[in-house]
Amino acid sequence: MALRVQKYGGTSVADIQRISRVADRVIKAHEAGDQMVVVLSAMAGVTDKLISLARQAAITPDKRELDVLLATGEQTTAALMAILLKSRGYKARSFLGFQAGIHTDQTPGKARILDIDAQKVKKALDQGHICVVAGFQGADNNGDITTLGRGGSDTSAVAIAASLKADVCEIFTDVDGVYTTDPRICAKARKIDRISYEEMLEMAVLGAKVLQIRSVDFAKKYNIPLHVRSSFNEEDGTMVVNESADMESAVVSGITCDMNETRITLKRVPDQPGISAKIFGPLADAEIMVDMIIQNTRTGGETDLTFTVTKDDFDRALQISEAVAKEVGAEEVLSAKDIAKVSVIGLGMKSHSGVAATMFKALAEENINIRLISTSEIRISCVILAKYAELAVRALHAAFGLDGDN
Ligand code: ADP
Ligand code: ASP
Ligand code: MG
Repeated sequence: MALRVQKYGGTSVADIQRISRVADRVIKAHEAGDQMVVVLSAMAGVTDKLISLARQAAITPDKRELDVLLATGEQTTAALMAILLKSRGYKARSFLGFQAGIHTDQTPGKARILDIDAQKVKKALDQGHICVVAGFQGADNNGDITTLGRGGSDTSAVAIAASLKADVCEIFTDVDGVYTTDPRICAKARKIDRISYEEMLEMAVLGAKVLQIRSVDFAKKYNIPLHVRSSFNEEDGTMVVNESADMESAVVSGITCDMNETRITLKRVPDQPGISAKIFGPLADAEIMVDMIIQNTRTGGETDLTFTVTKDDFDRALQISEAVAKEVGAEEVLSAKDIAKVSVIGLGMKSHSGVAATMFKALAEENINIRLISTSEIRISCVILAKYAELAVRALHAAFGLDGDN
């Protein structure tokens, strides 16, 4: 008997027919003798709809109340699934995040799971129940409902799997697994059979939304193998596991594209010690995460300072930058929202040179201008104009020999 945690994303529970198909799958495993915990997302599009409703009610909706609202998406699917299972004669119980013991910090909208007390779920499992847990939500010290950030049901599932010491955590989604790049952008993308936590983490950080970043972090930390697979067929998907010698040894294993970045430039800033601290200090105080930073020194003791932040943080970051620009005597603040960050990722880069050159050449051949570059041990990222993002992904996929013959 195995203890399995299965998470189903929004497309997999988009209507009653699909929830019913998920129930079939869960029942099959339950009948085979496995203990089943099912973590559900809201129906596809529901979270977006709830956010839009809140924005109609107020330009900047109160964050506490927004979380109360957003959590209802997952409450709905969890309840519907439990209703369905019970109506078919199975013992089932739904759990909201707090009922499943998911305890988070107090950051509405992007709360972090601090710990999980899964006693109640464990007890229900031992009594033969199928446990259905609402993903994406928890509760903080005050008992207030919190949500875990977009895509957060992945993290709910992995965290519950870790706390229950599950044998496997399966992430059911609308593609067959993790691909060498987003299969919706590149028809020649290939499914990867096994990928290391490290590479998967980079891919998630750099825009492959197939898994939420924190879910991969958790899986790596607690050594939970993840099986990312389709809820629409029975095929094996992708195993996300520790790096091992028999993994594909491609220098570049994946390409990602992140459309969520924006760029801010402070022009003609005095080139003096302490200036960067003056700019990035207030941004950090406002809890704005700065991604890439680049400084172009001009002659005459001045420099241009460019950095990127996410679209969500853009307005606040711009406001802060304008105030700081005045204070330090910068000439002006420029900004752009129409940018994309394309990245190539691979463990093999640690021991190979020439990856950057291949990347720049592939982009140049498509006449795509590179605005910013950043690198780490296992990836290289370039910021380009958003309108070239898909073209760039396809060109890089081909240039690094990743194209399949589909
Ligand atoms: P779910 O609702 O099941 O959580 P998501 O929409 O969050 O699903 O994630 C699945 C989507 O991630 C796919 O439909 C695909 O377009 C996108 N995606 C981006 N990069 C990749 C990749 N490298 N491999 C697979 N899917 C990817
Ligand atoms: N429903 C939430 C979202 O759309 C969480 C999730 O689907 O994982 O982001
Ligand atoms: Mg998702």
